[in-house]
Amino acid sequence: MRIGFIGLGNMGAPMAANLAGAGHDLHGFDTAAVAVAGVTMVESATAAATGADVVITMLPNGAILRAVAAEVLPVMEPGATLVDCSTVDVDSARDVADQATQTGLLFVDAPVSGGVGGASAGTLTFMAGGSDDAFAKAAPLFEIMGQKAVHCGEAGAGQAAKICNNMILGVTMIATCEAFALADKLGLDRQKMFDVVSTSSGYSWTMNAYCPAPGVGPQSPSDNDYQPGFAAELMLKDLRLSQQAAESADADTPLGQAATALYEQFVEAEDGMGRDFSAMLPRFVQRGRR
Ligand code: NAD
Repeated sequence: MRIGFIGLGNMGAPMAANLAGAGHDLHGFDTAAVAVAGVTMVESATAAATGADVVITMLPNGAILRAVAAEVLPVMEPGATLVDCSTVDVDSARDVADQATQTGLLFVDAPVSGGVGGASAGTLTFMAGGSDDAFAKAAPLFEIMGQKAVHCGEAGAGQAAKICNNMILGVTMIATCEAFALADKLGLDRQKMFDVVSTSSGYSWTMNAYCPAPGVGPQSPSDNDYQPGFAAELMLKDLRLSQQAAESADADTPLGQAATALYEQFVEAEDGMGRDFSAMLPRFVQRGRR
């Protein structure tokens, strides 16, 4: 299959390399100078999209996706598929889907979970939105780049699933960190806290798989001085998307709102920028109660 791949950053580069490694013909474009094994780099997004059966985008945000889509949709072959794997707002995903279908193209929004490690290992989870035909076209590529793809519904459903998942992630990370900070003040040993909570009703992915307390639980960014991992500013980006979606859909998300405000403060007014999102634990420990 001929594939145009636009946005070859931390995630896009290893995803494109895996597709090329599986024998597909990859033409890549990025505004930064990048080289990816097995990918023929071209000089523009339109050059990557021209003649492609599938165009994949892995871009920073919805505004950039809209701009790239405006360039590539007019040059794509009738019946070709645009697969956007970026994490963007639901409205951008739906608008680009409408534009694609109006010009006789297929569209899938397919954000991912699994991070750079999952992108490199080909073990990402894809959450996809789009028609059955569009999903069927993209599914064999998801199999190469990932280990699971869930067809969540019509266009935008993939982004909706991603935003809801990551709102839970932000809220539970904060809950886990503030509970550890409270346990410290109560004189409870962190290992004992982990032993109890990880097998009790307070367990969660943030406690059991990504414990924010250094030296406790499986290896995680807290054991590496909170180097990301998943950076606090990316958590903030996704929480903001959840609040934008909640506003536009009139949904009541008070904990999502509180988590957004806390990550905003952490990233913009404290020392959270560039640190893993689990560095909320030392943040709570240092601040104490106001
Ligand atoms: P990144 O910043 O490393 O990569 C984005 C790439 O897009 C960059 O190389 C940039 O030069 C390129 N780009 C920007 N504008 C462009 C344009 N107009 N045309 C072509 N290329 C352009 O980011 P990333 O970590 O690879 O993340 C990409 C997307 O995946 C984001 O939406 C992010 O939220 C999402 N995501 C990231 C992770 C992660 O752990 N990094 C996990 C899941 C989802």
